[in-house]
Amino acid sequence: MKKLFFTAFAFFLFLGLSAQDTYIQAGKLIDTKNGKVLSEKTIIISGKRIKSVENGFVDPANSEDQLIDLRNKTVLPGLTDMHVHIEGESNPAEYLQRFTNNEADNAFNSVGFAKTTLMAGFTTVRDLGGSGVNIALRDAINKGKVDGPRIFTAGKSLATTGGHADPTNGMNDEMVGDPGPKEGVVNGPEDARKAVRQRYKNGADLIKITATGGVLSVAKSSSNPQFFREEIEEIVKTAKDYGFHVAAHAHGDEGMQRAVRAGVKTIEHGTLMSEETMELMKEFDAYLVPTITAGKEVTQNAEIEGYYPELVVPKAKEIGPKIQNTFATAYKKGVPIVFGTDAGVFKHGENAREFVYMTEAGMPAMKAIQSATIEPAKILKMESESGQIAGGFLADIIAVNEDPTETIETLKDVIFVMKEGKIYKNE
Ligand SMILES: [Zn+2]
Repeated sequence: MKKLFFTAFAFFLFLGLSAQDTYIQAGKLIDTKNGKVLSEKTIIISGKRIKSVENGFVDPANSEDQLIDLRNKTVLPGLTDMHVHIEGESNPAEYLQRFTNNEADNAFNSVGFAKTTLMAGFTTVRDLGGSGVNIALRDAINKGKVDGPRIFTAGKSLATTGGHADPTNGMNDEMVGDPGPKEGVVNGPEDARKAVRQRYKNGADLIKITATGGVLSVAKSSSNPQFFREEIEEIVKTAKDYGFHVAAHAHGDEGMQRAVRAGVKTIEHGTLMSEETMELMKEFDAYLVPTITAGKEVTQNAEIEGYYPELVVPKAKEIGPKIQNTFATAYKKGVPIVFGTDAGVFKHGENAREFVYMTEAGMPAMKAIQSATIEPAKILKMESESGQIAGGFLADIIAVNEDPTETIETLKDVIFVMKEGKIYKNE
């Protein structure tokens, strides 16, 4: 026994001595905690984590250590997109594909979407609804079978009958059936509890509800309230037992107010948000997830003949163009904001477009970067290990050619990606 112990000890000692550290020499470094751009720093990475950040350009201590020269680049923490749909991607055949694609088809597609997202510098995403492929994809990424961002997923979104995420909207009578809590359709507090517990059983990390109508569902209203407050309260209350936060899709103001008062953590889109609701968001410490990119995209696609079903086109034209203005007002009023795009409604990998739209609407670049780094870490309960480049944090590190606080567009062209100490891209 003693001998075995010493052999094991010697082996680990050997591993410890030969462990290779990575040194990143960064010309500029974005300090997301203090909102500052620092210059000439060296980040030392050991395994999955950052060991330390040193002043100046420090050379590796051992010959086996790896040196990455980013002296002419700007280095920042890996980005987080708090609203994606990693399983799918918009295209004119998407509505038909609901009938023709099998889950396995979606699974294979999602592998590509995950990789594209990671390569665009997004090392963490919150997935707000799919069929369940999202859960399997998260696990495959965590096990290293598939390259992709760290995923927090809602699994299947919750809706009421005929609501935005009712999976049988627009189908014929024979196919429509009567989906219930298992499929994510909730009517009344009893169903609400069951639906949340079912998501826990399925392996979700959080809960997503559709508090109002939406643009892309085959249903008439884009903004009517679709849950009673007691139903949302029951969802939030049950979710708490499992450590889940709740995200609510909402365009209309009434549904949004009900969600905020019931304790929902993030409001997605927030398109028709009144100033009263903005005050309420501040009071309840609820975040707005803007998704301006999705608004721009649906506005554009609605002009293409046959891209969306007939029922969707007027909703896209009405809601799409309003999102950026609402964001501008909400930011000015001091509503907490966290970065989210609704990627999947547009092409995965184009997530950084949102930064450009956010700054266009009056948010300083540094704030926009913080909304995609330290702010999401708070909601995802990762503030001690994600969203900053500092000792002890996970080594999620990206680099761009220019200083994004001066040229925000540079974030669309990420040239270096490291996630948990592993390099995925180095151009
Ligand atoms: Zn969405």
